Amino acid sequence: MAESVVAEGAPESAQRVLLEILIHGPLSRVELAERLGLSGPSLTRLTKPLLASGRLFQGRPLVRAAGRPILPLDLDPASEHFAGVKVTADAVYAVVTDLRGEVRAELESPLAGHAPDTVADAVADVVRALPAAFAPLSGVGISLGGNTADGRTVGESHFLEWVDVPLADLVEARLGPPVTVANDVNALTQAQHWFGAGRGLDTFVVVTIGAGIGMGLVAGGALVGGAHGALGSIGHQLLAWTEATCWRGHHGCASALLTTEAVESAAERATGRAVSYDEVLRGASRGDPALRAVVDEAAGALGLLLATVMNTIDPATIVVAGEGARLGETGEHAMLAALSGAAVWDSVRTPVRVQPFAFTEWARGAAATAIRSRMLR
Ligand SMILES: [Zn+2]
Repeated sequence: MAESVVAEGAPESAQRVLLEILIHGPLSRVELAERLGLSGPSLTRLTKPLLASGRLFQGRPLVRAAGRPILPLDLDPASEHFAGVKVTADAVYAVVTDLRGEVRAELESPLAGHAPDTVADAVADVVRALPAAFAPLSGVGISLGGNTADGRTVGESHFLEWVDVPLADLVEARLGPPVTVANDVNALTQAQHWFGAGRGLDTFVVVTIGAGIGMGLVAGGALVGGAHGALGSIGHQLLAWTEATCWRGHHGCASALLTTEAVESAAERATGRAVSYDEVLRGASRGDPALRAVVDEAAGALGLLLATVMNTIDPATIVVAGEGARLGETGEHAMLAALSGAAVWDSVRTPVRVQPFAFTEWARGAAATAIRSRMLR
């Protein structure tokens, strides 16, 4: 029995029981004991207070394969609710989720300016405007394009022109519930890890493409933020020398080739007219040769970026997400050809999952960071 490695009755063991059930759904006592390396009596000791306090309950009997039904332990996802808010340059997008990250309501509101107090007011207002049925909230998560080392202060955000803004303090002072601040890609990765394509995976990566390019990493079963909360800053990775430049003046970096704006600019250069991102992808799918070439060039650059990630990290899976993710579908062939061409090991072929993406996923990610804070405290 591997029981000796876990201090009996330690709070973190009770936490691990709750987490297993939160992430994997209802589990029998036998399954739980196996997953956590605990003896039956130890598990009973740990679950007793959780059952007494109502955080866990005896779920409905489950029939698995042949044999008698098992009585699982479960938790009620509707017992707690969380708000998640994604801050963009001109709006705030909010959702309410339950404890398992299911979106129950959503709302958006324009952002009047980028001063810290203006943003904190907008976040507090949109959270207050969410349906009262979900109050009181157990936590609020805020995500944005920026880094944070401690989950409370935004160290640096280019689009807001912020340095060291204590956003969690500002919003807590207005709202009350505990507030967690996260980089938007890390927040999305957290949601994928517990409630999405990364469930149960020890090492996986989320690469986002859209207005910007980002990456989130789960390694050793936990989200990894780096020393400054800046891990995954792959947006200016050099991919190929091209005439196209990013806003920082790099030729052929990921931002110069892969952002929504970069793809639209490439399409305009190829066709001599303004073409939206959707039109570029639709035109390529229909066989327009100029737009097909634009998509394949961008998708090839995406494949090179994914190869760098694969060669550096060796994840179990790479999830491509973000509002530009469909590039990985429409340009799948060029993306995968570039990926395998740049792979170092013939035996390592990391699966790439391109996710259908709705903009609310960003706010849901913010809620997932609030759920994580709640579960780990
Ligand atoms: Zn760049």
